[in-house]
Amino acid sequence: MCRHLAWLGRPRTLASLVLEPPSSLLVQSYAPRRQRYGTVNADGWGVGFYAPGRPEPARWRSARPLWGDPSFASVAPVLSSGCVVAAVRSATVGMPLEESAAAPFTDGRVLLSHNGRVDRAVLPPVRDAESTVDSALLAALVLDRGLDALAATVAEVGAADPAARLNLLAADGARLLATTWGDTLSVLVTDEGTALASEPWDDDPAWRDVPDRHLVEVTPDGLTLTPIGALRA
Ligand code: GLN
Repeated sequence: MCRHLAWLGRPRTLASLVLEPPSSLLVQSYAPRRQRYGTVNADGWGVGFYAPGRPEPARWRSARPLWGDPSFASVAPVLSSGCVVAAVRSATVGMPLEESAAAPFTDGRVLLSHNGRVDRAVLPPVRDAESTVDSALLAALVLDRGLDALAATVAEVGAADPAARLNLLAADGARLLATTWGDTLSVLVTDEGTALASEPWDDDPAWRDVPDRHLVEVTPDGLTLTPIGALRA
């Protein structure tokens, strides 16, 4: 995925997260401001979110551009959640164009998005990948090993493919985890909750950039930032 975001906090509508801000994911799908690779994100999109009393997330994904989904625009103002992951996709050359290649991926409990690329040949064999796209294979590996091994998995894959870009974004309903490894990520902490996004969705001066090669963890208690190299020992 080329631009992704997540929210943990007070429930808010999917429209307020994905469609309404001045530089929303919708706007980022045709006019991203900080994208380093690719110019538009028109190769599909997806959103996953948790509802109270239901451990498995709900997902809406599509192989179409986000701007070409009026049915989603119709329901998004009345769908609310306190834990959301969403992404718009710019397919890497040679990767399949299909709904199942759009993030967020899931194992039925965790949502996971990948902004970047990785040589599929360096990834260990995985079961249950949703697609043959590099991001789905990487997601299956991360989901198999568990979120507690997220930073270690990124460091390992990054060492195996030095050209890899591995910005990952995950949620399990109670926390968010993200890595920076070759691309942008910003964080916004508010009284209502915390947002992580490939790029700020508005010009609020409270957005902060996350340095490269870091792990970000967001829980209801706050946010921690750890250099990924420091976790390798
Ligand atoms: N490599 C992934 C894909 O092809 C993600 C691409 C991206 O982050 N732009 O979908």
